[in-house]
Amino acid sequence: MSVETLKQPSGTPESSELIRLEGVTKRFGDNTVLDHLDFSVQPGKHVTLIGPSGSGKTTILRLLMTLAKPDEGTITVDGQRLFPAPEKQVREVRKKIGMVFQQFNLFPNMSVLRNLTEAPVTVLGLSKDEAEARARELLDLVGLADKCDAKPSRLSGGQQQRVAIARALAMRPQILLLDEVTSALDPELVAGVLDVLRDIARSTDITMLCVTHEMNFARDISDQVLMFDAGRVVEAGPPEQIFGSPEQERTREFLSAVL
Ligand code: ADP
Repeated sequence: MSVETLKQPSGTPESSELIRLEGVTKRFGDNTVLDHLDFSVQPGKHVTLIGPSGSGKTTILRLLMTLAKPDEGTITVDGQRLFPAPEKQVREVRKKIGMVFQQFNLFPNMSVLRNLTEAPVTVLGLSKDEAEARARELLDLVGLADKCDAKPSRLSGGQQQRVAIARALAMRPQILLLDEVTSALDPELVAGVLDVLRDIARSTDITMLCVTHEMNFARDISDQVLMFDAGRVVEAGPPEQIFGSPEQERTREFLSAVL
């Protein structure tokens, strides 16, 4: 398949920013979790957020997914405001974004296939046949073509997470948010999920924003790594810089603790 056929429709030219956060502040009570955060992501890039627990990484994904709202600042996606924005516009922009969570969050009472077809039919208006054909392709991509009729509870955690990835892709998002997607898995199931994500990173032009503790994976797939501490980006750069010769003491400390 050529890269051209995998291109997602985009309202902005190739070179411009797909995601832009400007002055984003998020507080929970007295706790300032994100402090006037600015960053942007170019279309098709894979950006990894690393840093200590509690530094605000997941909160950024939740703001982009509109599961929470900033207290200050603006968020723009594909040239359209996501925050602040009228509800109708938020719903439109949100369709460009898919998210995979630590706890797979599959619909337990639906078959694997139906997990993948439900939203494309009800939200995107695809016919059942179209949605099923797309779902079968995606289950093949994640190595689970033989599990269409299974209920999620019959699958291993790694298989459930691969279904969750396929389900997110079934909505044809321009942006895929990945929130510690291997953290809840038994160690022997992690590699299979990361391999699927590597494959997606290599073979599609989906923009990926990924919170992970898997440093080798981050090194492999990232175009850019953002090192967070206390709600701020303390260092940003290509993986060779961040993992090979970090400039900031805080980055060196963090990496020496986790590597
Ligand atoms: P990370 O992903 O870097 O571990 P998070 O974004 O999950 O960090 O959390 C950042 C901070 O925000 C933490 O101090 C956490 O306790 C706090 N926090 C996150 N969500 C909530 C919430 N819904 N209510 C109160 N505090 C929250």
